[in-house]
Amino acid sequence: LNSPYARDIAHHVHPQTNLRLHESEGPLLIDRGDGCTIIDAEGNRLIEGMAGMWCASLGFSEQRLVDAATRQMQRLPYMQTFAHRSTDPVIDLATELTAMAPGPRAGESMAKALFACSGSEANDTAMKLVWYYHHAIGRPEKRKIIARRRGYHGTTIAAASLTGLPNMHQDFNLPLPGVLHATCPHFYREGRPGETEAGFTDRLVQELEALIEAEGAATIGAFIAEPVMGTGGVVVPPAEYFPRVQDVLRRHGILMIADEVICGFGRTGAMWGSEAFGIRPDMLTCAKALSAAYFPISATLVSEAVYEAMRAESDKLGNFSHGFTYGGHPVGAAVALETLAIYRERDIVSHVRRVAPRLQDGLRALADHPLVGEVRGVGLMAALELVADKDTRASFPAARKVPGYLAACIQKRGVLLRGRDDGLLFSPPLTISEAEIDTILAAVATGLDETL
Ligand code: PLP
Repeated sequence: LNSPYARDIAHHVHPQTNLRLHESEGPLLIDRGDGCTIIDAEGNRLIEGMAGMWCASLGFSEQRLVDAATRQMQRLPYMQTFAHRSTDPVIDLATELTAMAPGPRAGESMAKALFACSGSEANDTAMKLVWYYHHAIGRPEKRKIIARRRGYHGTTIAAASLTGLPNMHQDFNLPLPGVLHATCPHFYREGRPGETEAGFTDRLVQELEALIEAEGAATIGAFIAEPVMGTGGVVVPPAEYFPRVQDVLRRHGILMIADEVICGFGRTGAMWGSEAFGIRPDMLTCAKALSAAYFPISATLVSEAVYEAMRAESDKLGNFSHGFTYGGHPVGAAVALETLAIYRERDIVSHVRRVAPRLQDGLRALADHPLVGEVRGVGLMAALELVADKDTRASFPAARKVPGYLAACIQKRGVLLRGRDDGLLFSPPLTISEAEIDTILAAVATGLDETL
């Protein structure tokens, strides 16, 4: 009764979990990590096919990150960055991140970085900055924000409002008023019979234009998007989607926020998802792989124009009254700096490009399986959508828990993946080898046959 399993059930609330089910099933207790593998309390080895939560980009035993954290802990374990205080790692990280992140125009990078501890906080910050910016430029009524159905931006009140997943709103009294959700650019699910992908993109762009007109461009402050939707099911948009969306936004003076919390730092096979999908953001949020998940840290990066407005507004009001106790934590900054150094030295983007075809082609080879509706993905993120009927594309009723059953079959073969309502998600550490990808693929193929 005093076992960790019993105490977990007795005392620990698990996020994003069916709480009643947890009381009967108990936790999967993870003991330690070894490269891209985790080892549970019973000694079972599991390849982490989701890199934890899309974040453990360098696996689980990167000694350089441990050393970077230890050095900084010993030197100065904490300092705040309110009211002019700063530390070397924070300054170095801000310098490096702003230089590497794409800005609003070709060849331009970001101007300033503002730090927090999670993707949700980074997106909350971005939302507040949209309002602050529009106050500064004399258009305070530009308050509404357009996000997209199936987008995921986090779980705090503002970020969960931006999130376009109904279960994140239900009975939490969300979304907040003023957050609008546009159509998800998923051709397989949202395309109409007879529509081409180009026609689908045309329609989404027209819908966006119509939404802006109906609401009034003078009331809309920003559009936020993940370059590739992650949690919503690894939705890779049509190539023309973002450049065309961005044309519409520019015409109406609406800021573009790129949520790079998953896509940033190589996940798509480019350093930034924005680069891969033609986004020129006014603000960019990042977290997760920023520190390879070894320390919680996130950043909201802003363009020169956004920063100039922030400066003017803070001067008018006497203060920029936003920020977190742990924003710019020196240990997080030191770990992030070392993470970026490792990405550079090992040319992580090239590694992703080299091994990604093994995952993407291997999954596409499963496309004819009777349970598989669509295989989609880019770089080292992918989804396999399960259908009850390939022709009608009908999903399985939630009560049948087919993706959960499949994920459990795969887990028995030594691979940990995340089952969503309608399929499986893949997001292994960026350091994954082709041999490990083969193990994942073999487990998925066997699991599919067992589920049939
Ligand atoms: N944005 C995206 C695209 C995410 O995938 C996530 C988390 O999965 C978040 C924001 C929220 O990040 P966090 O869970 O660190 O608050």
